[in-house]
Amino acid sequence: MAKEVLECSFCGRKKPETSLLIAGIDAHICDKCIEQAHGIVLEELKQSGKTELLSDLVLLKPKEIKSFLDQYIIGQDQTKKVMSVAVYNHYKRLMQIQSDDEVEIEKSNIIMVGQTGTGKTLVAKTIAKMLNVPLAIVDATVLTEAGYVGEDVESILTRLLQAADYDVDRAQRGIVFIDEIDKIARKSDNPSITRDVSGEGVQQALLKLLEGTVVNVPPKGGRKHPDQKFVEVNTQDILFIAGGAFDGIEKIISKRLNRQAVGYSTSKDISVIDKDNLLQYVIPKDLKDFGLIPEIIGRLPVLSYMNPLDAETLRAILTEPKNALVKQYKKLFEMDEVDFSIQEEALQFIVEKALEYKLGARGLRSLCEAILTDAMFDLPSSSEKELNVTKEFAEHSLNKNLLQRLKTAS
Ligand code: ADP
Repeated sequence: MAKEVLECSFCGRKKPETSLLIAGIDAHICDKCIEQAHGIVLEELKQSGKTELLSDLVLLKPKEIKSFLDQYIIGQDQTKKVMSVAVYNHYKRLMQIQSDDEVEIEKSNIIMVGQTGTGKTLVAKTIAKMLNVPLAIVDATVLTEAGYVGEDVESILTRLLQAADYDVDRAQRGIVFIDEIDKIARKSDNPSITRDVSGEGVQQALLKLLEGTVVNVPPKGGRKHPDQKFVEVNTQDILFIAGGAFDGIEKIISKRLNRQAVGYSTSKDISVIDKDNLLQYVIPKDLKDFGLIPEIIGRLPVLSYMNPLDAETLRAILTEPKNALVKQYKKLFEMDEVDFSIQEEALQFIVEKALEYKLGARGLRSLCEAILTDAMFDLPSSSEKELNVTKEFAEHSLNKNLLQRLKTAS
């Protein structure tokens, strides 16, 4: 008997005509039919909404979330831990909403206090990446009350819609990172202002979004397109993460700690307080004293802090995260077949300069750019296939670059 040629039970293609034929119990399927079926499944999922969207989310346990964050964020252990739990609970809450349970879990919106450049935005970005949900990063300083020059708070949701490619369901499960929330604090030292355009009024407007409400969102944003149709967005399941430097809050914390130490002999021994990093003792009341209204604080129940970045952390940030700067430059040079390396002393030099100029982690990038621009310009068209950055090279390139800038500035 002639040997039977296997074929796809769906389209009938013979095995030699396929790239892959997978055997089932008494049927076969080829690679093309698998792809087609996958497309149909995706289409179905898209149309049937909620449940499937949730299964799209990659929900990890808090420890797994933290390990994921560890790959991208150096240090900040406390915040990573608090975040992992908050995010885990947030998505548990979403699952519960579908099961109509009687115990209603409240939202775990988060607020992070920490100097600029310590990784607040990075935390929000990394979480959105991990969960595969859209992320909108907005700056609270541009927000104003409706009717004033600036952006209405609804513009936050316009950004989220854009990040979700206008898929409203996806947007409704996204993350909003509100940067510089401290800048809309009530200016308590100026009570004569009757309408506080940039402060309390914005906080009130923001409150509605945080509480969970249906908002009419102009999909194109702003007031420039008055004819557009509004899109309804429910903010109930959106995770809000706020961040701010809260300049001067250390004074408020320190005063409170002193008062506590005087008031109760049993309370925290003031001598064990780490005075160089007072942010770690921040409590919601300090935010209130800083000028956030209690309702906003109540809607951002998870409070965490970012440590200032010391030399050791900055040094680690250069090489350790999954997408560390040094790894990125190595990759860029590799594309021109240039073998890139950098000596330890050069890395230390970059860290020193970042600390000296008080640039934080954000400064590492500009320093590296200043040091490497000439090489990135020259090497692709040269026969040189190696770049080893020594401290001298770094120092020389940086000085040259800075001098050039000073010259053009003068
Ligand atoms: P913030 O929002 O607190 O002002 P960012 O998250 O924007 O700070 O940080 C600025 C840049 O510095 C980021 O792009 C990131 O590359 C780097 N960075 C800051 N903190 C860390 C950290 N703890 N670990 C790794 N990279 C960091």
